Amino acid sequence: MDGIVSTVLRERFGFDALRPLQARIVERVLSGGDALVVMPTGGGKSLCFQLPALVLQARHADAPGIGLVFSPLIALMEDQVAALRAKGIKATYINSTLGRAEREKRQRAIARGEYELVYATPERMHRPGFAEALDAVPGGVRLLAIDEAHCISKWGHDLRPAYREVGAFRERLGSPVTIALTATATGPVREDIREVLGRTDAEMPLFASGIDRPNLSLNVREVWDDKDKVGALREVAASHPGTGIAYFTLIKDLDRSVALVKRAMPECAVEVYHGKLDPREKRRVYRRFIEAAPDERLVLLATNAFGMGVDKSDLRYIVHMQTPGSVEAYYQEVGRAGRDGQPSRCEFLYAQDDLAIQQEFIRWQNPSADVMVSVATAAERRSEVEFDEDDLRIDALGKSGQSGLVQYALIELERLGVVTPVYAGPDTTGRYRFARPLDQDAVEPEEIEAKHQRDLHRLLQIVRLTKTEDVRAFVLEYFDLEPTPV
Ligand code: ADP
Ligand code: MG
Repeated sequence: MDGIVSTVLRERFGFDALRPLQARIVERVLSGGDALVVMPTGGGKSLCFQLPALVLQARHADAPGIGLVFSPLIALMEDQVAALRAKGIKATYINSTLGRAEREKRQRAIARGEYELVYATPERMHRPGFAEALDAVPGGVRLLAIDEAHCISKWGHDLRPAYREVGAFRERLGSPVTIALTATATGPVREDIREVLGRTDAEMPLFASGIDRPNLSLNVREVWDDKDKVGALREVAASHPGTGIAYFTLIKDLDRSVALVKRAMPECAVEVYHGKLDPREKRRVYRRFIEAAPDERLVLLATNAFGMGVDKSDLRYIVHMQTPGSVEAYYQEVGRAGRDGQPSRCEFLYAQDDLAIQQEFIRWQNPSADVMVSVATAAERRSEVEFDEDDLRIDALGKSGQSGLVQYALIELERLGVVTPVYAGPDTTGRYRFARPLDQDAVEPEEIEAKHQRDLHRLLQIVRLTKTEDVRAFVLEYFDLEPTPV
């Protein structure tokens, strides 16, 4: 490591050394090369862009420039910026939780070169004043980082459409050194990331740490009903005493199981987490979970709303009470177990009926053009007031309309600018306001159907996983990632 790198690492970040793969990546980026990084959660991806961004600035004392980080998750962005600021690093974020005055103030400070790192959601690219502020920075954008880069790809499980514009935006910035990072990416997702960024394999080589987790025991077990599932959960929790997560797909199935779990597992504390809890309760459960002692028997019943960014190294088990929607989601969720390297157990409880739930879920996530129009119309009728999905459901879909369908239609309509969420701090409460009428040309039925089919295809891979003898071998083949030698 050259002198300036170790000085910045020590004095600005307070770390003594880079991990071997981090060192390879930092070296690559500092020599002006782009990089695609696939490293599990907790692997230390942030430092791979934060450190070079500061070193590049230190190398250009008269016009240091700035590091720009796109990140799709508002809460994670706020946490990272807070952690950087605690170290005395000049970081800020721009996202939709900021009022206009505050946003404009930060953008003026960016333009004056007062920050070292700025985090933004990909939707910012085309919002007024953002690109202009970056253009004005003395020294410009020295480094562009795209975190959670799998969201670029339609082959991933988390497509974030605004990310598809990042290639053009990168050019507009003068093609700064670019680093894309994610915890999971299959071959097609990796190709797609490079294509969107306009980079070849040679220009943007892969840096991957092995994804195999030898201390996790991965099993699939066929079950028939709730009682079976809770029995299996109890058995797993008893075999690996400590803290664990039981994942559900649907809140209503989770709610139905709470009493059953409490009765069957009196030796365990039971907590619940899902997207519909109010923000205060979410924070309480999150803290309670993170702070649980390593040997405390605590089981968290959760939907996948719990997980991203959760940093707890001593989870002893993950039980999938219902079928996850993709191998990516499955492996990301089990990957939260055993980060301390201790033996941990991951049990996937497979029930035929749950497959239908996932199919239904996938249908919700891909609302048809008709549903979009009905929900948009119902929203427009409430243009004077705030509303949530329940307020629109009967109006848009009739008495038997499913709220899940409305929920996902609202997410799509938000993307299209028809509704805007009403924020209460970092956790949105699911309330919206009408913004402008739906432009029906923006709804493309073929696109919707194509995405629906891709989602179903991913689900099919999960069914294949349940049939395999060796879950580990299946997953490794699915991701097809050779670890980079270090
Ligand atoms: P990821 O984004 O890959 O999930 P993070 O960048 O959030 O991981 O890092 C995970 C944890 O590892 C953080 O607490 C971070 O401070 C720590 N960490 C990362 N790199 C180093 C290092 N070289 N030395 C010590 N701690 C590190
Ligand atoms: Mg990260």
